[in-house]
Amino acid sequence: MQLPFRPSDSNKFTFGNVLNMAGSLNYRGAAYLSSVSALRVGAGYVTLAAIPPVIESVASQLPDAVYLPLPQCGSTMAKDAVQVILNRFKPGTVCSLGCGISAIEDDPHDLPFVVHALLDGLMKQKASLVLDADGLNIFATFDDKPKLSERCVMTPHPKELSRLLNVSVEEIQKNRIDAARDASKRFGTVVLLKGHRTVVANGNEFRINDTGCSALAKAGSGDCLTGIIAGLLAQKVEPFDAAVFGAKIHGIAGELAAKKLSDYGVLASDLPRYIAKAMLQLQ
Ligand code: AMP
Ligand code: MG
Repeated sequence: MQLPFRPSDSNKFTFGNVLNMAGSLNYRGAAYLSSVSALRVGAGYVTLAAIPPVIESVASQLPDAVYLPLPQCGSTMAKDAVQVILNRFKPGTVCSLGCGISAIEDDPHDLPFVVHALLDGLMKQKASLVLDADGLNIFATFDDKPKLSERCVMTPHPKELSRLLNVSVEEIQKNRIDAARDASKRFGTVVLLKGHRTVVANGNEFRINDTGCSALAKAGSGDCLTGIIAGLLAQKVEPFDAAVFGAKIHGIAGELAAKKLSDYGVLASDLPRYIAKAMLQLQ
């Protein structure tokens, strides 16, 4: 597998657009980690759609992204928030949805409601989508789960997949390949089942990732992976390849970081710099 080609006659639009809806009051870092990782893997343009407190925190660390503040959006106003996002959604945009989105009691932003409505809209458009974390959990609540587009990648950890398939985590872990395959057939999309030896499956084939180490077993690490895959999709890598290659790059970044900082000491926020070094190694 090869990294996406970077012609010299190029500009930021050559390398695609990621619209990342991520972060909530208690999970601001997830918005940062997913956005910066999409940029580090080569995406030309990343827009973070988030509530204003998240944008304030992230913008102070990441001047490289573009920010789209969501209006306050209790369930009655969710449509307004979705419209704000969809207005930015040009054909070819890749949406990553779900990192660090959680509901907090009394929060005027009903983010799960917005995610639900947005997911509905994006599925109708057959948009290219990376679904992670609460994006997956909210999809799991859809009564009649529709097929997603083949251009989508779902990135569940075993617990998230257990909610989607309604089977126990133990059962999933007993046969990870079959679980990922079943999910990909059921939802009509690429499924990446996280963990040591991550499995990527589509309806026809699967791969097992052999990079990575225990340095990746730390909060926030999965948000980096979501950003990596979205960034590769934005550069027109096919979804199955984006998931396979994304897991590989994420794993190499973890290994390189661990060489400098130890498996114990690596933070998820160390990874984006090592994603760039992994790209150097792979190019
Ligand atoms: P999440 O659970 O969403 O934070 O995602 C964690 C990420 O780190 C996933 O990509 C996992 O595959 C990866 N990961 C976690 N623990 C390990 C491990 N022990 N070895 C390799 N990769 C791991
Ligand atoms: Mg996660």
